[in-house]
Amino acid sequence: MTGSLDDYGPPDDHRNMTTAKPAASETGDPLLLTPGPLTTSITVKQAMVHDWGSRDQGFIAINKMVLEKIVELAGGEGTHVTVPVQGSGTFAVEAMITSFVPKMGKLLVLINGAYGHRAKKIAEIAGRGVISYETPEDTPPDLAKLDRLLADDKAITHVFAVHCETTSGVLNPIAETAALVAKHGRRLLVDSMSAFGALELDARKVPYDAMASSSNKCLEGVPGLGFVVCRKTALAECKGNATTLVLDLFEQAEGFAKTGQYRFTPPIHVIVALGKAIEEHAAEGGVAGRGKRYRENAKVLIDGMRAMGFRTLLPDALQAPIIVTFHMPTDPKFVFQRFYDGLKDRGYVIYPGKLTVADSFRIGCIGRLYPKDMKGALAAVRDVLDEMRVSNGGQALAAE
Ligand SMILES: *Cc1c(COP(=O)(O)O)cnc(C)c1O
Repeated sequence: MTGSLDDYGPPDDHRNMTTAKPAASETGDPLLLTPGPLTTSITVKQAMVHDWGSRDQGFIAINKMVLEKIVELAGGEGTHVTVPVQGSGTFAVEAMITSFVPKMGKLLVLINGAYGHRAKKIAEIAGRGVISYETPEDTPPDLAKLDRLLADDKAITHVFAVHCETTSGVLNPIAETAALVAKHGRRLLVDSMSAFGALELDARKVPYDAMASSSNKCLEGVPGLGFVVCRKTALAECKGNATTLVLDLFEQAEGFAKTGQYRFTPPIHVIVALGKAIEEHAAEGGVAGRGKRYRENAKVLIDGMRAMGFRTLLPDALQAPIIVTFHMPTDPKFVFQRFYDGLKDRGYVIYPGKLTVADSFRIGCIGRLYPKDMKGALAAVRDVLDEMRVSNGGQALAAE
């Protein structure tokens, strides 16, 4: 028996390296080119070295600051409130759907990837009426069709839309969707998990009842806290809707209003780290500054990968600067597992594809990553391709 955590080495241990010194974060770990959990700053991690009691006044003040800052970032000061949910992002999505859609409500889910499918499943398990409008993973919904769907089915009370569908990286037309839903007098629930904090979503311009996101995507905190930004007057109508105890956003909000405290043990270290992460987000220039760095990352990545022959799934106009899907090279000498392992050995962790429309892999642009890191990743890609004797990242035959 070994007894120490140290025996396991750093995450995704890459001490068996044979090539040059691998890329690493400030703590020596591989860089995560993934859509969350992601690489965080050392100062965010250091914020977690203390212990707080959940009734500690210092912690309660930090938590309050975090919730208020999130409302500010959402453009919801005075009109909206942040209700946090212990757990990952999906916990917040499930809390949002089951707290806002009444038992007799009917939810229309717009699907073009795994997260839309997941929302539909949540509604089904909770016994809510649900229908979906699905388009392929590289295709946003047709707004004229959505317009007709809402006009024809008066029973639809709520619409669920994903802002950036992380499955492909596609940017869905959230502002146009919100305007249509409002025009028809229905309510909008938004999954802005992988976009909030980097892509603009201003509640003063884009009307919604609720928007879910989490600590460990574009805000660059550590995983463990989901949150829902709720329109106050809409949340006030949600009493008794929830079909679970812990995911009841109305009761969770009541708890804060009464005591300033969580009803159940909060992930304190995660929340304190998120406070630090939000400070760093502000120092970078808020949503505009964070979005600018991610757009630079995405551009360096896409230009560099294209120069090696790789093809993106999406045209540039539909590509969000969050995560990029690339077609798998067709050269039979290209073996994805070797590609993945070779990149990991060089300090870069990428993400397998999850698409049904095409054989693909993904590379994320979010987290504490800069254009220089993307350039490093490109050099590693070149190196691994050479090792596999793959000359072109696209169609091998066409290129030769
Ligand atoms: C990451 C993500 C979620 C939540 O995933 P968790 O693994 O539960 O954190 C939901 N929707 C989208 C679009 C996401 O990118």
